[in-house]
Amino acid sequence: MLRKYIYIAIILPALVITGCSNTPINSEVNLYTARKEHLLRPLIDIFENDTGIKVNIVSAKTKVLVKKIIDEGKTSPADLLITVDAGNLYKAKLKNISQKIESNKINNLVPEYLRDKEGHWYGLSIRSRVIMYNPKTINPNDIMNYEDLAKPSLKGRVCIRSSSNIYNQSLLASIIHYKGEEAALDWARGIVNNFSRDPKGNDRGQMTAVVLGKCDVTLANTYYLGKWITSKKDTEREYAKKIKVLFPNQANRGAHINISGALVTKYAKNKDNAIKLIEFLVSDKAQEIYAKQNHEYPIRQDIDISDIVKTWGYPFKMDSMNLNNLGTLNDRAGKVFDKAKWK
Ligand code: FE
Repeated sequence: MLRKYIYIAIILPALVITGCSNTPINSEVNLYTARKEHLLRPLIDIFENDTGIKVNIVSAKTKVLVKKIIDEGKTSPADLLITVDAGNLYKAKLKNISQKIESNKINNLVPEYLRDKEGHWYGLSIRSRVIMYNPKTINPNDIMNYEDLAKPSLKGRVCIRSSSNIYNQSLLASIIHYKGEEAALDWARGIVNNFSRDPKGNDRGQMTAVVLGKCDVTLANTYYLGKWITSKKDTEREYAKKIKVLFPNQANRGAHINISGALVTKYAKNKDNAIKLIEFLVSDKAQEIYAKQNHEYPIRQDIDISDIVKTWGYPFKMDSMNLNNLGTLNDRAGKVFDKAKWK
């Protein structure tokens, strides 16, 4: 530890003063992020301190940021886009707003299945889309797999988000990958038959419906429960006690996972700094903080996770499918949802 401080105190200023690194004094990087600034801020502060590179943050929803980058074209100030879901990152790449980057450091740290096969986007953290249920009305042995949610015994008991939501699109894409389109359609039809109501609301809306007894079981991303457990609102902390997490498909392909991730924009003016920021975010030091900020999982199994996240069960079997498939199968997932009349 002491050696680390000596390094920071002596070597870093020397690098900045002599300019022998690639980092010019007063350099900056412009980050467009669909993740809330407060999640990234603690890390950005460390990065700015360590490197002297100033990070300018623009926050908005993914669609808004992608459109902004397209509209701004070659004059876009954005160097880097951070967003969630491999499906979103894949679509952003298709819209021609990203570029390939080369970094041995990133390639060594981010497992191949969590990054674009042509080097455009990279996973920064993992989330799992899990089954959440009311333990008073559901026997967990009846819902061990995603497939079980389509069983007739759950008729009128499943609440779930709209098919326009990328999280559900990616989950269905994974089912198409493993079981083919016909089986995926059967599954989607089974879920539609089990709807407790027409799809509405976000993941937390579904979880709330379970807690309030409007349905018995749903699908939601893990970190939303983490947000409830640590919420300042009494009601949310109470809600958190009334819902249970189940990691599906543990005896077969594993629970569906997805990522938050980053890409360097096509016309980045500060490309080197953008790469440095990604390198930092996947480093040991950042990963330990990063995943914990949002109750997610690190992109590597050798990094510790938060105690709250551990209580749901860890390690669990994660689906190891290459996440590029979530992008390539997204269109087909949309068609299957339409055929199943999943709104
Ligand atoms: Fe989310």
